[in-house]
Amino acid sequence: MFPQKFNVVGLAGGNNIDLLAEQIINYRPKIVSIKSESDAAVLESKVKNIKTQIVYSEKGAEQVASQPEADLVVSSMVGASGLKPTLAAIEQGKDIALANKETLVMAGQLITDESKKNNTKIIPVDSEHSAIYQAIKASDKEYVKRIILTASGGPFLNTPVNEMKDISVSQALNHPTWKMGNKITIDSATLMNKCFEIIEAKWLFDLSNEMIDVWVHPQSIIHSMVEFIDGSVISQMGLPDMKIPISYSLNYPERLNLNIKSVQPGEFSNLQFEEVDTTKFPSINYAFHALKEGGTLPAVMNASNEVAVMEFLDGNIQFTQILKTIKEVMDLHNNSQDYCYEAIMESDKWARNKTREILSN
Ligand code: MG
Repeated sequence: MFPQKFNVVGLAGGNNIDLLAEQIINYRPKIVSIKSESDAAVLESKVKNIKTQIVYSEKGAEQVASQPEADLVVSSMVGASGLKPTLAAIEQGKDIALANKETLVMAGQLITDESKKNNTKIIPVDSEHSAIYQAIKASDKEYVKRIILTASGGPFLNTPVNEMKDISVSQALNHPTWKMGNKITIDSATLMNKCFEIIEAKWLFDLSNEMIDVWVHPQSIIHSMVEFIDGSVISQMGLPDMKIPISYSLNYPERLNLNIKSVQPGEFSNLQFEEVDTTKFPSINYAFHALKEGGTLPAVMNASNEVAVMEFLDGNIQFTQILKTIKEVMDLHNNSQDYCYEAIMESDKWARNKTREILSN
């Protein structure tokens, strides 16, 4: 779409060799990074006649993120793996379209400090934060009273608490309104995704804990709201389609004609809101606790979640063990207020090991 507007300088991927080969053929990027050295060799053999440089590993992703020709880096790796390349891009003065919210969860202070120092913009891809980014422009920051993040509530909004432990992987992967990757779909089912979005909002919009609220809104039409001190509430609405926030982040401050069909009254006629049941979804409390404690605790929460979600997807643990284990690991963590990259990664590693240890017993 829009080849006259965008030129792909570099791409970084995991291990989907065929897709990367197809993208190299279509977009002719200068550089492409893939996860492993052996995959890099296979990829190289598939695109022999094209001059794209193939690199690999985290170093390779960092190289892609720091290309001098790039104006904007789309950070959309899954989980903690996105932190180093995103930092590299910011250090090179690139604006960031941020889809990798875990980066701000783990290292919000570090990322925002670096972004200020290098005068770069972080434009959210996340639909809720895209909504707030748009709505908050209705007035000055000093007039913002609070933001209300909306949450679809995921597939288990109405599942009785005592049935939660029997939820299967395929049930958890069946999200009612959004089609997304596996990890974020499980995060949406546990509401850990909303937990991360609370922390993401704190850093993107420089908010205190008291200024952040979450409402369940199963229709996912209102993508979030900003309440101002005079009682005005400004929201951004639209059908749930990730093309809209993605396009906004890539074109900001311009807008592209996406030829999305206009909304009809029937699609907006049933907008429901309710409070989050934190007994069933304590994840929301984890976010406020992690924000209050600060330091390396948010990184620990993120790392523990990553491990627990993978164990659930592999069929090794029950659905309810995900949140239970994260809480245990957070409680065991010796929090440090040092938020340099090394301290964050050390806590990340500790949390992964501790989570595996708890889950294997
Ligand atoms: Mg979101």
